[in-house]
Amino acid sequence: MANSLSPDRLVAILKAEGVKISEYPGWRTRERDDETGKPFGPVHMVLNHHTAGTDSLATVAKNGVAGLPAPLAHIHLAKSGLATLCSSGRANHAGVMAKNAYTSFLNESSTHPAPSKASGTVDGNDLAYGIETENRGNGTDVYPRAQYDAWVRINAAFCREYGWSSESCGDHKETSVEGKIDPKGPVEGYGTRGRFSYTGKQLRADVAERLKHPASWSPGKTPAPPTTPAPKPTTEQRLSALEKTVTEQGKRLAALEQK
Ligand SMILES: [Zn+2]
Repeated sequence: MANSLSPDRLVAILKAEGVKISEYPGWRTRERDDETGKPFGPVHMVLNHHTAGTDSLATVAKNGVAGLPAPLAHIHLAKSGLATLCSSGRANHAGVMAKNAYTSFLNESSTHPAPSKASGTVDGNDLAYGIETENRGNGTDVYPRAQYDAWVRINAAFCREYGWSSESCGDHKETSVEGKIDPKGPVEGYGTRGRFSYTGKQLRADVAERLKHPASWSPGKTPAPPTTPAPKPTTEQRLSALEKTVTEQGKRLAALEQK
């Protein structure tokens, strides 16, 4: 059973993965469990979003939007890479998921079909952790390097905790039957890679790489070329150099004597 994590455990796994965190006042008890009448879970995947705005923290954590009470995610991820905890219970972020897409994440398939309403639907809010990543979502607003790095770490933290593969990490647009387009936009860079466009597939690849290492790992920058130390002179070379010095000194002595 993949029970949902306690607030303390959620904090612990994020810290272990090297994520800088903040706790939104009241987050430990703010949830939408009453909509189902039972505790959040079992959980089977992580769902990634963009906020489609700026300064979205209070909206996500406490205020919600018209017709959709907060919390709107478990974690709000700022441009700086700071992750603010908003809930450890059920949150209004995933909405209605297509069953075919959801099943592919549940089964950790290597491919994920386009969400089809005809396959049936499930309540995504009751089975997925949600991350709202701050970005305008206009296709040009950049996810800074620190933000993307934290994003990979948060996804990996859940996978590591539950023993999931990176194929348990999806995007809102990959599961939604409500025409969602998030997340999208250019990423400044990650590890040795420069600018690239965000895709769920790339995020999963980066999470998979991270899971090969301990939670304390940091992706490297391009390694500096190894410096080759000057070779030590052989004994023969040292003797030959010494002989040359002696010979020169001898010549100078001889020259002096002749004066
Ligand atoms: Zn979304």
